[in-house]
Amino acid sequence: MWLTAVYYDGRQARPHPVTLCVEGEKLLLQGRDIVRREALASLKIPPPLGSTPRLILFADGARCEVADRQGFAEMLQDAGSSAVAGMENSWWYALAALLLTLSLLVVAYLFGLPYAARAAADQVPVYLLERMDTQFFASLDQTLLKPSTLSAKRRQTIQDGWQRLALPPGEDRSANIEFRASPALGANAFALPGGSVLLLDDLVSLASNDQEILAVLAHEMGHVHEKHALRQMLQASVIGLAMAWYIGDVSSLLAVAPTVLLETRYSRDFERRADAFAAELLRANGIPVSRLADILEKLEAAHQTAVAKQPVESVEAMDYLSSHPNTEERIKRLRGL
Ligand SMILES: [Zn+2]
Repeated sequence: MWLTAVYYDGRQARPHPVTLCVEGEKLLLQGRDIVRREALASLKIPPPLGSTPRLILFADGARCEVADRQGFAEMLQDAGSSAVAGMENSWWYALAALLLTLSLLVVAYLFGLPYAARAAADQVPVYLLERMDTQFFASLDQTLLKPSTLSAKRRQTIQDGWQRLALPPGEDRSANIEFRASPALGANAFALPGGSVLLLDDLVSLASNDQEILAVLAHEMGHVHEKHALRQMLQASVIGLAMAWYIGDVSSLLAVAPTVLLETRYSRDFERRADAFAAELLRANGIPVSRLADILEKLEAAHQTAVAKQPVESVEAMDYLSSHPNTEERIKRLRGL
């Protein structure tokens, strides 16, 4: 019994049409200029997966794809190779292999992607990061973002307070504050990939004193310091690109990139690190760490009210207001510092 298959020599991507058969304990493969005779025991034959062609993996890196899955299964059974036939017949083996593949994908998603994004974030040149921030404001100003209604004097006072903060050694004051108003985003602040911190009017009016505003800025600077926005965006674009490739539309992905930044929910770990950074910075400048907890409490209350005011169906849309999850847990931890 002969089967047709496609052979790749493992060195070049060129496919070679071949025919296969089993002779005793050996696999015989023939094509133009190719003859291989290999012990079945030396080959790896992964169990069938979905409707993909069956694979034969040679020890030297060559491989063979067999489209005729049924024929291949019969050929293996006829060969009577107990190991191969045993695997072949084992429904459980196929299921286990599938579960293993799935769990590897999950692990890669959970751990591999953040790791890769972190490594990639360190490679992105500064000028590109700054351009990202410029792009962010270019696409959202006049839509989601409006000019700040704070007086020039009020803004200057906040700027001055921020400039006066002594930074940890080695940290430059690249984070500049961008004042904006946004009824849709409410009381909020965002760290952008290029190091700009977007501070919204509602947050300024919510704060009882300027130390609370500085505490929020210090927290956002923690995100800047660890490149959280960039890392999150890189991760989202890998997933987004994969989705776009699957759906076949990349342009829509590029169009939504700036809003992804605003909808980002940081992980618990990112928040903890930004809080720790802020706590250290505040303490070094003689500002009580509890100021951050104070403003967090007010933000949480304000967002709860905003969500409660919304009709039920738009609650989900309002969800991005709390771009800083686990607020209660964070308040408790900050109070304990
Ligand atoms: Zn945060």
